[in-house]
Amino acid sequence: MDHIGTFAASSYRLCDLQLFGGVDENQLRPLLAGCSICRLPRDQRLEDTFRARLFIVLSGALAETATDGTVSKILPGESVGEQSVLDETTNLADIRATADSDLLVIDGDLVWQLIDGLNGVARNLLRMLSFRIRAASATSRKRQKLGEFYRQLSMNDGLTGLYNRAWLNDMLPKMIGKARRDGLPLSLVMIDLDHFKRFNDSHGHLAGDDALRGAAGVIAKALRPSDFAVRYGGEEMLVILPDTSEKLASMVAERLCQRLRQVVVFKDMRLPLPHLTGSLGVARLVETMDETGLIAAADAALYRAKEAGRNQVHM
Ligand code: GH3
Ligand code: MG
Ligand code: MG
Repeated sequence: MDHIGTFAASSYRLCDLQLFGGVDENQLRPLLAGCSICRLPRDQRLEDTFRARLFIVLSGALAETATDGTVSKILPGESVGEQSVLDETTNLADIRATADSDLLVIDGDLVWQLIDGLNGVARNLLRMLSFRIRAASATSRKRQKLGEFYRQLSMNDGLTGLYNRAWLNDMLPKMIGKARRDGLPLSLVMIDLDHFKRFNDSHGHLAGDDALRGAAGVIAKALRPSDFAVRYGGEEMLVILPDTSEKLASMVAERLCQRLRQVVVFKDMRLPLPHLTGSLGVARLVETMDETGLIAAADAALYRAKEAGRNQVHM
């Protein structure tokens, strides 16, 4: 960054600068006369590690990359460094010129003198800072939303919208722990669509995907808000029923089995229902079981339902 002259010798208009808008020029000019104007060549970094100073862009442009990676542009008339002057810390953000830029450099002490002496400067500074705060909180809200979006993405299965295995691995042990602590029952229903390979072979994978979405939809809709549906594997879904006895769980499973028969995959009315059936296995949590044992018990019951002819519930 090269010193190319003082403000007194330059022809820049003060009223074009955000910080000085509406402030009496006759009062300002003498105070700023000795301030230096520096030229920062394109792509060069604004080095200001030793003291807090304010830089006003007179021509060119700067880009400020905050520590979290957000980039903001600083155009002629705008400034950087207000905050570091106010709290007397050095600016940690990475600031670079995106074009050859002339900067008016105002030392921290002089900034304070301007604030103390000229109401207009103080008011402009407050306004500038309030815009910064607003912009910063808008970014953090956006980031929050993005975070929520990614959280959803990481917990839910993309095709069906049901919870995924990662969610199950995280949550099932917790639910088992809670059921034990509260002395309440907990049941699982494992669901596997019947002859689904054949379904794909006859109708194509896209129809297969539609069928899976349809099945997941009716299962999710048939549950209470306190129940959870997970896509366990390809065409396997698992329903977690907290505070539910095995008897009640098998009634829920019967209802799910019946709803699956009503899933409409093909809009063509000449194709009779069911387009789709499922086999369901029910298990309840017992003393010695962990999550793996509980899932294995539901899986074994499911296997019995397959053996017995599919399209039915076993315990
Ligand atoms: P069973 O009645 O014994 O369960 O027979 P099945 O054909 O359903 O069982 P199998 O495990 O042999 O085949 C499962 C099929 O599910 C094979 C696979 O192509 C299909 N499948 C798994 N995930 C998806 C998916 O995301 N979309 C589609 N379209 N098909 C899937
Ligand atoms: Mg299967
Ligand atoms: Mg199957």
